[in-house]
Amino acid sequence: MTRAPIRAVQSGMRITIIEDDDRVARGLATVLAQAGFEVHRIATAAEAVRAAPSDVVLVDLGLPDGDGQHVIRKLRDRPETAVIAVTARSEEHERVRGLRAGADDYIVKPFGIPELLARIDAVLRRTRVARAMSHPDEPLVLGPMRIGVGTREVTVDDASVALTRKEFELLLLLARRAPNVVSRDVILDQIWGATWESSSRTLDTHIAALRHKLGQSVPIRTIHGVGYRLQADRPELTG
Ligand code: CA
Repeated sequence: MTRAPIRAVQSGMRITIIEDDDRVARGLATVLAQAGFEVHRIATAAEAVRAAPSDVVLVDLGLPDGDGQHVIRKLRDRPETAVIAVTARSEEHERVRGLRAGADDYIVKPFGIPELLARIDAVLRRTRVARAMSHPDEPLVLGPMRIGVGTREVTVDDASVALTRKEFELLLLLARRAPNVVSRDVILDQIWGATWESSSRTLDTHIAALRHKLGQSVPIRTIHGVGYRLQADRPELTG
């Protein structure tokens, strides 16, 4: 596959890395930007407390000017923000410290990128409802399609499209990740909460129904052996 430019998800998949080790932070920033996040970097606890809201925050528990735990407690005022504590050691008390402070999850250094991305996915899923509630009025616009996240109304070329609950959730998931591919496993897990084989046909049926209802101006591409991607231009990001 050619390397398509990866863009941050429009509805604001913003990630903040709070990490004083410049080499670690730089590496993470590169990988997460490639994964489609809008990445922000912060190196101190003082700065972290004043930072703009994010969808996900990675907090190193060992910061030079203060306690990562304190930062996590401050972040807990925003339910729509998912917090992952990053601990340098695998000692249990370190993990407990992070979770006690209110982190949604923790990860132990050194960690692999697939593990990090999987944990980010999981915490984002848990904060999905809070996020939707915090921006219910911001429609997601992709090419000729508008998705009202709060109202659950979808239009294509200003014509209303009636979707079932599952079809809407599937469309929203693909739209939020667009133009990236969303794997079948991720879709099954997030929409049906299952990875077992019998849901696979259900997914095929829903994709077929969505394609039929959305029409050709909002194509859903099959990436064989992987999953699906919604191919629609984001007019506000071009040019
Ligand atoms: Ca550190």
